[in-house]
Amino acid sequence: MNVPNHQLRCLNCSATQAPSVCDLYCAQCGGLLAVEYRDPPHGALPRLPMDDRSTANSLGEGDTPLVSLGRTAEELGLRSLWAKLEFMAPTGSFKDRGSAVLTTMGRDLGVTEFVEDSSGNAGASLSAYAAAAGLEAHVFAPASAASGKLDQIQVFGASLHKIEGPRQAATDAAEAFVADRKLVYMSHNLSPYFSEGMKAASYELVQALGAEVEHVVLPVGNGSLLIGMVRGYQELLEARIVKQIPKFHGVQAYAVRPVVAAVTGDDWSHEDVLPTRASGIAVSKPPRLAEMVEAIQSTNGTGVTVSEVSLTTWQKRLASSEGVFAEKTSAVAFAGLEKLIDAGTIERGATVCVPVTGSGLKEPLS
Ligand SMILES: [Zn+2]
Repeated sequence: MNVPNHQLRCLNCSATQAPSVCDLYCAQCGGLLAVEYRDPPHGALPRLPMDDRSTANSLGEGDTPLVSLGRTAEELGLRSLWAKLEFMAPTGSFKDRGSAVLTTMGRDLGVTEFVEDSSGNAGASLSAYAAAAGLEAHVFAPASAASGKLDQIQVFGASLHKIEGPRQAATDAAEAFVADRKLVYMSHNLSPYFSEGMKAASYELVQALGAEVEHVVLPVGNGSLLIGMVRGYQELLEARIVKQIPKFHGVQAYAVRPVVAAVTGDDWSHEDVLPTRASGIAVSKPPRLAEMVEAIQSTNGTGVTVSEVSLTTWQKRLASSEGVFAEKTSAVAFAGLEKLIDAGTIERGATVCVPVTGSGLKEPLS
């Protein structure tokens, strides 16, 4: 019998357990799990949990375009501003990188039907990858999610459960459904496998630009891209492909800011949530909050909030001056970048990369 290439390690008590897509928590203490590989990284490709990459459930995700935003860089006083167009993906968001890994593990570990909850993009993505893998998916999403995202979930053949109320209500409903139907909860936020798929974005950045990027600025909600990209860079550091990791800065809408509050020591509770147009990151209680803070602080990065006005302004500015149509959640990162430069956190003359996580085509403009 094959020995798996990894085990799962508890982030809280460090106990280990066998690979599983069903066990989302540590059997000893209930803590969240992370993937721990048996072999050290070699630096050519990210380590991945599946035994055979050649049979992975893939729709051609990854290898996203990296474009130079020259006009914006000049206006902001940067040497270079690189946009990593993560929305150039099979279902139009960065989530496809994680869905490929998570559904491959689910299929290979014998899952045939699973439950997921999402603000929209992850649900659309997992629905597509479930279709490709022949898995049945139940997706719980806020009824207020963009119609383009809800349509995607349905066209891929998943059962869509629209839940009234805030994003958290969809999670609560999914958990109740799982308990009631005894189904597998393949939560992309709780499963340690989803963010493993994000590591490739860091490998691609280093392959294209070497050590040029000094800062990565990205929107953060549940943090899979942040956690995965930092882990990707850590592998590259361990394999001696890079000498240091860029500073990772997490940006949130002021309305929902648990991560920024935790990084900056701001007093904020999930009961202080306000409405926001950045629906993809409107996560008031991210389960991997401690891991996100650790990821940011390990790179000497920081967190910053932005106003509702600034994210819509930046969505239009990016589209009209650079031809990049990001969703509002993604525009948050550019509004944050401007604030970080104004505050002197990002120095003028720096080289910055912003992953543009989702497409503007899925949601209404206003
Ligand atoms: Zn534990």
